[in-house]
Formats: sequence, structure tokens, C-alpha cells
Amino acid sequence: MIPAVLPTYARYDLVFEKGEGAYLTATDGRRYLDFASGIAVTVLGHSHPHLVAALIEQGQKLWHVSNLFRIAGQERLAERLVANCFADSVFFGNSGAEAMELAIKMVRKYQYETGHPEKHRIIACAGSFHGRTLATLAAAGNEKYLKGFGPDLPGFDHVAFGNLNEMRAVIRKDTAAIVVEPVQGEGGIRPAPEGYLRGLREIADEYDLLLVFDEVQCGMGRTGRLFAHEWAGVTPDVMAIAKGLGGGFPVGACLATERAAAPMVAGTHGSTFGGNPLAMAVGNAVLDVVLADGFLGDVERIAAILRRRLTALVAEYPAVFAEVRGAGLLLGLRGVVTNTEIIDRARAKGLLTVAAGDNVVRLMPPLIIDETHVDEAIGVLDGVARSFAG
Ligand SMILES: *Cc1c(COP(=O)(O)O)cnc(C)c1O
Repeated sequence: MIPAVLPTYARYDLVFEKGEGAYLTATDGRRYLDFASGIAVTVLGHSHPHLVAALIEQGQKLWHVSNLFRIAGQERLAERLVANCFADSVFFGNSGAEAMELAIKMVRKYQYETGHPEKHRIIACAGSFHGRTLATLAAAGNEKYLKGFGPDLPGFDHVAFGNLNEMRAVIRKDTAAIVVEPVQGEGGIRPAPEGYLRGLREIADEYDLLLVFDEVQCGMGRTGRLFAHEWAGVTPDVMAIAKGLGGGFPVGACLATERAAAPMVAGTHGSTFGGNPLAMAVGNAVLDVVLADGFLGDVERIAAILRRRLTALVAEYPAVFAEVRGAGLLLGLRGVVTNTEIIDRARAKGLLTVAAGDNVVRLMPPLIIDETHVDEAIGVLDGVARSFAG
């Protein structure tokens, strides 16, 4: 008999009842160090007092009014995001896929309204992930996720991630935009190679394409900068964010320059729930912490320590771990042995991690961890590595 909850996930038989900081407590009383962060979502850990206070305060005042009215929290969060990145305007939705859907709509609309109705195709990279809606699945082009849901949405081309020559070669007169994750997440924690994002910016400018960055996973401080593309010193025209934005409250956003966003006038897009007062109160509270003096510097510092310790672990157990890769606190430990086997053994020892493509174990701790958490995680992974040896 089918379970009451549609069984689309292969879930672990584990129920949590409480979270505090970097730790989760299961219903059987066991405590886990959470380096999964609900898949890069709980950037400030669990039950962060500032987020809890913001949610309770807003919850007692006003939850939802719809976008028929101005929403003060939206205006504030949008202004703060705009003040801290390339964008001039922000649309709030509820998830990463929705943010990417708008990015796709926006680049087509831009070309349509600027005299190029023929330009509608979007180039994306192999190994990418952009969400589970029909358009975002077609954008990523992952056969595994598309199978059985056809016909696939047309209008997407795919090239190898990191290869500028291939990117140039696939551009046609009906190409509208390039979409890329500055650090590929689900595909296996692959950072864009040096010079790649800059090269994409140049190509986009040369062919009058819009450049879209999907920072749903790598954004919101995870790499030690508010947005991962800052490391490359280039900016996109459009960017999708979500996961960390609400610290666990569902919220996503599509950010754009004035040029790219200009055609999105009243009536061109909408969302019933998007940017409601609850989501905006929490999003603003997340920004209070992430933008506070020193916070991102601390992320960079602890990330360097974690990476150094993981690199040492790889050197010590070359028969178990192949390499460390990633950026900031979005790290991937590629296995020699099967990644899910590492993940299961780590979980049994009290450490939560997440699988990614290319046999990678994703380590995405909350951004608030300190060296004691790093010690504990390395201790667990060391024990896991020994368990394979012995
Ligand atoms: C998770 C993710 C998405 C989809 O976000 P949802 O909130 O699950 O819809 C899109 N792009 C990237 C890079 C992601 O990691």
C-alpha cells in the first residue's frame, strides 16, 4: 500500500524533534552534528535566537496579505540585497526552482522586448541542478530526473561545465542566455574553474546574451562571501537564490539588474505566497546576522581550517577518500569507496552529511560552526576511514 506521504524520497528512518545550533536531537534521544544543514539551508544552525525572535514577533502581528498590497518586509529585504550585490531589483518566491523559473522567463522576456523575439534558447551546463519543475529540469538536462516526464520543455542546450570553447561553439542566433552555478552543488561540489565566470561574462556581452547565476546553493554566505560569484570579480544579469536565504523558512528570490528586469512590468509574473510577511521577517533576520561585521570573515577562517583538516584526512586515507573540493563551507569529499557507505557510517557515528554526484560526500555545516565542531566532524570521519581499513 502506498504510504500517506508520497514516497518520492528514499528517507533515512530517523525523526528529529529538536535542533540547537549545529546539533540535532532525534526522537530516540541520539544527538547528531549536522553538516547537512537541511541541504545548505540552515545557515545559522537550528533555533538561532535572533531568527526565532523574528518569527515569533512577526507571527503575533501579521502572516499573509498577498501581493495585492505593499509588504514592508519585502521592500526592506529587497533594498538590503540590492545594496549588497550587483542587482537593482528583487522578486520573492518560495523556493529555488521558482526563482530559477523566473530567471528563465525573465531572460526570454528581455530578449523579446528588446527587439529579439527569436532569441529564446538557454545554454546550461552538464552536471548542473536547477530544480524539479519542468522548465528547471529541462534547463539542467539530467536524464535521470527527466525520464518519464516528457515531452521535455524545448529551448535548452547543454555544454560541458568549465569549457569556454564549447560554450562559444553552441551559441546560435536564437540563443538568449547562459545559466550556470558558480559552484555546482548536487552535481558533485565542482567550483567553476579559474577564469570561467569571467569568460562567460565576456561571451554574454559579445553575443548580447544575459548571464544567469544559480546561487541557490552556493549563495548566502556559504563560500565566505555573500555570493559565490564575488570571488570571480564578475557579476551576472540575473541570479537565483533560495536555500540559505530564510535559514530554514521557505523563501527564494530572483535578483536582476535594471536592464534585465525592465520588461517585468505589472502582470508579467506573480506568486500568492511569495515574499509574505513571515518569510520576509526571517529573511531580514538572516541578513542581520550574515551581514554583521566579521561574520563572513569568520566563515572564511573556519572553512580554511575544515578544508585543511579534510585535506590531511585524504592524505592519510587514500584508499577511502580521493580528494577535497569546493569553496568555503560548501565542501565535497570525493570517495574512493562508495559515498553513501561513508555517509551511512558517519551517520551511525553521529555526523550528518549529504550525497552529491560523482561519488561525493557533501559537507555543508551551518556557517556558525567553530573549531570544536570541526574537531568532532574530523574525528568521526577519521573513525569512518579506519572502519574501511580494518
Ligand atoms: C536546491 C537547488 C535548486 C532548487 O531549489 P528548490 O528550493 O529545491 O526548488 C536550484 N538550484 C540549485 C543550484 C540548487 O542547489
